[in-house]
Amino acid sequence: MIENNLFRSMDMIINESGILVYVIDLESYKIVYANKRCEEEFGKNIVGKACFSILQKDKATPCEFCSLQNRSKNLGDDFEWENVNPINNRHYIFHDRIALWENNQKVKIKIGIDVTELHLLKKALIEEKDNAVKSFEALLNATIEGIFIFDRDKKCKLVNQVASNLMLYDKDEMIGMSALDFIAPESVENVKNYMKNSVQEPYEATMLRKDGSRFVALLRGNNVVLAGEQVRVSAIMDLTKRKEYEAKILKLAHYDILTTLPNRVLFKEYIFRAINRCKRTQEYYALLFIDLDDFKMVNDTVGHSIGDKVLIEAAKRLKSSIRKNDVVARLGGDEFVVLVETNNTDENATMNSVVKVAQKILQRLQEAYHIEEHTFRISASIGIKLFNDDVLDMDTLMKYADSAMYNAKFGGKNRFEFFNPEIQHLMEEKISLTNRLREAIEKGDMVLYYQPQVAYGEDAQIVGVEALIRWNDSQKGMIPPAEFIPLAEESDLILNLGDWILNEACKQIKIWSCDTIKNQWRVSINVSSKQFEENDFVEKLEKILIKHEIDTKLIMLELTEGVLIQNFEETVEKLHRLKNLGLSLSIDDFGTGYSSLAYLKKLPMDELKIDKSFIDDLMNDENDEIITQTIISIGQKFGLKVIAEGVETEAQRDKLLAIGCNFFQGYLFAKPTKAELL
Ligand code: C2E
Ligand code: CA
Ligand code: CA
Repeated sequence: MIENNLFRSMDMIINESGILVYVIDLESYKIVYANKRCEEEFGKNIVGKACFSILQKDKATPCEFCSLQNRSKNLGDDFEWENVNPINNRHYIFHDRIALWENNQKVKIKIGIDVTELHLLKKALIEEKDNAVKSFEALLNATIEGIFIFDRDKKCKLVNQVASNLMLYDKDEMIGMSALDFIAPESVENVKNYMKNSVQEPYEATMLRKDGSRFVALLRGNNVVLAGEQVRVSAIMDLTKRKEYEAKILKLAHYDILTTLPNRVLFKEYIFRAINRCKRTQEYYALLFIDLDDFKMVNDTVGHSIGDKVLIEAAKRLKSSIRKNDVVARLGGDEFVVLVETNNTDENATMNSVVKVAQKILQRLQEAYHIEEHTFRISASIGIKLFNDDVLDMDTLMKYADSAMYNAKFGGKNRFEFFNPEIQHLMEEKISLTNRLREAIEKGDMVLYYQPQVAYGEDAQIVGVEALIRWNDSQKGMIPPAEFIPLAEESDLILNLGDWILNEACKQIKIWSCDTIKNQWRVSINVSSKQFEENDFVEKLEKILIKHEIDTKLIMLELTEGVLIQNFEETVEKLHRLKNLGLSLSIDDFGTGYSSLAYLKKLPMDELKIDKSFIDDLMNDENDEIITQTIISIGQKFGLKVIAEGVETEAQRDKLLAIGCNFFQGYLFAKPTKAELL
């Protein structure tokens, strides 16, 4: 009774649990028991049927075969297999066990669990993975880089289209190839080293295509875990284009576009190397600085595009005048440089060979240039600096060659000149003096001295003064104008200085205007040629006069003959405008220049100043006496006041008085001095 109840409960559990249970007789392979779930699943009355009938016919899984083929009849043996019900597509996992049934009959008890949901979940996961792989591949193909995925053995597992395009292999061909198969032999060692790192910095390597051609690429590899597997993802970027651009940029930075010669930057590199080399060998190099003479004229007369063609031609000629190991470069404009390697340690021998090079260059450059319908002849000036040690840096070498070139120009052009340290020294002095002068003008270190001019009538009296500039230098003391006026004229500083002198003289006149005697003094002011030639000289001067409210009668401008005969028409017109302002005009250093009566007649002058040089020898040199006499009589004829300067002795004064000169300036009367001391 109890047993019966127990069986019924068991039966109920087996039937209601949702588990499939059936039993196969291992003799007949017939189903001897099936629970309710089994009948629901495989159809009623399956008990007594052959076991195969409930198996899916077309999709019998290997497990089921295995289960069947496993003919083991050993008690307690277990199998597990999976099956699908073809009618409802539900999945089961069966567990088989050999056991003893009623009558000691050997049976296989099969217990199936419905794993359909689990199966669906698995399927979804697989699909998701497939999609992920697809997206991953899409991603790979969207990059600009070629992507390779290698397995642990560095065998290619996957590549993108770019990689295939770059390497000229089909994608399929690449699978299974070794990573190093894509690398050119010369880069293999390098790449191997980089591959040791799990994450690489990008580096460059030469790649080897299927057809054997090569290209430089930027590479970067990373070890990553992809879908549970450790792989190496390598990205490569083709640098061919970039290398081309870099080469172009390098060329732009190092070569002159017009002539295609090396430019200053690259040339300096060559000099740098030469300096380093001769340090070892003591062999001389020659640096030639070449400047075409009057090239500006070509540009100005026929235009820049023809000028450019002349430069291109000149560059060609220079190139053809030198040997293979020598370098010619264009610094800019019409300036070229040549570096000559002499392979010589003897200075004289070097000079001789360099002279030949320089002569050849001058010769070649001088030949006629036929450009379009024009024919030109252009010469050049060359400065040469030799060096065979590293005592001088390249900037100094260039500077010296340049300064020698300047001397060649100064010496008449179409010539060469070796660097001369003495001339260089003078030039440097000049430059530094000019700089100091500029500062001195700004700092207010300039002073105006005044030297009285005396008139002889009944008695001698001061009627005017000449303003003479001095530079009061804190180190050198008073520097006389002869040392700095020419410099100031060369550098245009004379214009600032001239303005300062005019203003200063006006201030002094203003101060003297309160003095009953000095308010009559006329102040002579020296005007340099550059100052006078300025287009707005008259306007500027007028402004200054107005600013200081000066009676213009009190100013006399001293101009030299040289200034007056240049652009004669313009000068005459300018002088008239000055006269119209009420100013007086004097010809300074009269007799030393082109004194011509013809021009004197047309100039609206008031005074002639006999140059000191005639006065100096007045007592000894008869010629000087005659010249002085002539000047005085010319002055009288033209109604001009004549003044003698540099009068140092009473004898000179008396002689001058005797021949009709009544106005004097000179140490006999007073030296130039500060206004306060007058
Ligand atoms: P300069 O215009 O012929 O000036 C006359 C020069 O002769 C002055 O020299 C003066 O000091 C000098 N002198 C006058 N009497 C005697 C004398 O009896 N014996 C000797 N040995 N010398 C005498 P300084 O001042 O040295 O000026 C030299 C030159 O510098 C001037 O020659 C003039 O060309 C230029 N200069 C001077 N001051 C100025 C200026 O303010 N502006 C410009 N543009 N040039 C100036
Ligand atoms: Ca003067
Ligand atoms: Ca003079």
